[in-house]
Amino acid sequence: IDDIKTDDSKIILMTPQGKTYNQNMAYDLSHEKHLIIICGHYEGFDERIRTLADIEISIGDYVLTGGEIPAMVLVDSITRLIPGVINERSHLDDSFNEKYLLDYPTYTKPRDFRGMEVPEILLSGDHAKIDEWRYQESIKKTQTKRPDLLK
Ligand code: SAM
Repeated sequence: IDDIKTDDSKIILMTPQGKTYNQNMAYDLSHEKHLIIICGHYEGFDERIRTLADIEISIGDYVLTGGEIPAMVLVDSITRLIPGVINERSHLDDSFNEKYLLDYPTYTKPRDFRGMEVPEILLSGDHAKIDEWRYQESIKKTQTKRPDLLK
């Protein structure tokens, strides 16, 4: 770590005892210049390793064998927020976006799938109305599936 760290490095320790990871943390970390991720294995770490870390992160209340998969979760969720990696509009519409709502329902082709039709409004071409419909659907979905987020 001493060999690779620079003044711009943020050192992250992957541990189930850390702060539970979420999209806001992904946004914050995407603005960092250099990340170093420390992964434990089996029992975990020598306690003294903690003094090297700027932040301890958990990807959820369960235990994996090693920190590599949690590190990949960070790398994937952070990289896609870096400008130019994916279309910015896509992640602004994703769940846990700036409004912290779940994503609105998505429809593709065919227009009729087993009797379930694509909502008429999405075929109207009226973008303002479509945006409003999507926003309302996001609120409804969040209310049903993750009421805790609305708080
Ligand atoms: N004995 C440790 C404890 O109970 O806190 C768990 C060690 S775990 C088996 C081995 C390593 O996997 C950890 O040091 C950490 O790097 C990684 N790991 C396991 N679960 C994790 C989680 N939920 N979030 C982040 N890292 C995790």
